[in-house]
Amino acid sequence: MAEVRTRYAPSPTGHLHIGGARTALFSYLWARRNNGSFVVRIEDTDVERNVADAEQKQLDGLKWLGIDWDESVDVGGPHAPYRSMERVDLYQQHLQKLIDAGHAYPCYCTAEELDEERQKQLAEGVAPKYSGRCRHLTEAEREAFRREGRTPSIRFRVPEGRILTIHDEVRGEVRFESDGIGDFIIQRPDGRPTYNFAVVVDDALMEITHVVRAEEHLSNTPRQVLLYEALGFDVPTFAHASLILNPDGKKMSKRDESVIQFIDQYRERGYLPESILNFLVLLGWAPEGDKAEEEIFSKEELINLFSLKRVSKAPAVFDTGKLNWLNNHYIKKSSTERITELAIPHLAKAGRISENPTGDERQWVTRLVGLYQEQLDWVAQIVDLTEVFFREEPVYSDEAKEVLSAEQVPEVMASLIQQLEAFTGELTPDEVKALLKSVQKETGHKGKKLFMPVRCAVTGETHGPDLRETISLLGKEKVLGRLRGFLEQRDRILG
Ligand code: GLU
Repeated sequence: MAEVRTRYAPSPTGHLHIGGARTALFSYLWARRNNGSFVVRIEDTDVERNVADAEQKQLDGLKWLGIDWDESVDVGGPHAPYRSMERVDLYQQHLQKLIDAGHAYPCYCTAEELDEERQKQLAEGVAPKYSGRCRHLTEAEREAFRREGRTPSIRFRVPEGRILTIHDEVRGEVRFESDGIGDFIIQRPDGRPTYNFAVVVDDALMEITHVVRAEEHLSNTPRQVLLYEALGFDVPTFAHASLILNPDGKKMSKRDESVIQFIDQYRERGYLPESILNFLVLLGWAPEGDKAEEEIFSKEELINLFSLKRVSKAPAVFDTGKLNWLNNHYIKKSSTERITELAIPHLAKAGRISENPTGDERQWVTRLVGLYQEQLDWVAQIVDLTEVFFREEPVYSDEAKEVLSAEQVPEVMASLIQQLEAFTGELTPDEVKALLKSVQKETGHKGKKLFMPVRCAVTGETHGPDLRETISLLGKEKVLGRLRGFLEQRDRILG
């Protein structure tokens, strides 16, 4: 059997989008599953819409996700070039073949004429399609148009009365009638190919065996199949993955603000690439058999498990809660050093720490991140979660005020202040434990009656991470300041 070859073919009109990333991932996994090759091709013929940094951002995004490729603009390959606008000669050669065989013809209609035709059809209630008025022009008529200064586009002559049955790995047999398709443009007047033409020439010459892409391209497929046939190429296997719906169940549009849509935005917020990869694969795919209920998959497992047959044709719903759950799972599994590395820029940007903490500061930040690691759904949350460490006075919640108004509180506070004042050395969590023990002995208060007021006075909250580590990280001076502040301002604080 021929080597499996798949491709991801982004247009460089924007950064890597979750939909594109999912397409790339499915294509990639299918190639790797079959020990095949994965190609990244840049489809840049829509020059007006191209964005300067998009190509690089697409590649960076894939790389970050852990998706690697065998052939592309950066690494080259046997079918180079991998950028459409550098392949215009190839398209023109194939275009000439179509013209010579009578499969394509020049069309001299102007945009205004075509629009007029379209409006008329709409007014008559018929589905607009090119009427074919340049289909049968004589050489003399063409010459007359040329003398008028008109430059033609080239249209494909769609055969009449054909039923096209396309096999799709996801959807099964899909039928189209050729009569529903008007003769379509394959080359623009300026010599650039249109997408439908370039994609066929490229997929065929690059020996792509499986075209995996999003459902929105299903309607292009019959045009492409007709081109494959006319050019004498083998038709590849198609697999059209379902739409992605936003959490409200509506079709996701790029302007939709209910979901973050670009891979680099997730990266900036501190999502881990393995979480995004895991999340993306579940947008329309599930494993078979006893694995069907599982949700956590590494890239390596996916390479073993993935199959196009298990890609669903039902729309996938983007579930932000699930994404956060997955990311939290992978954050918990990561080393604290890794999460700290990702947290530092966020804390530095918020003015909390220096940009390149080293020595003691670095150690302190690592412990701080470690204290909150379990709670993080994404790393940038570290800024809000750790706010209490950086402010002058805690913000006291109502629950904390309630705890702090209990009778034993002033005595407990006074005792802890005394213990701390007398303490010298490094305030490690073990030392904090010892100090609290002494307070217990001295005041006779223990358990909740002791720890809750201390937590509330120091952090302003009834809940939070490990108290000893919190006190240790805050340090003696800050803790003393807060305890004294509380005692001095007790009436104001408790209101
Ligand atoms: N350049 C197309 C896009 O970005 C790719 C379509 C295809 O995969 O055939 O949507």
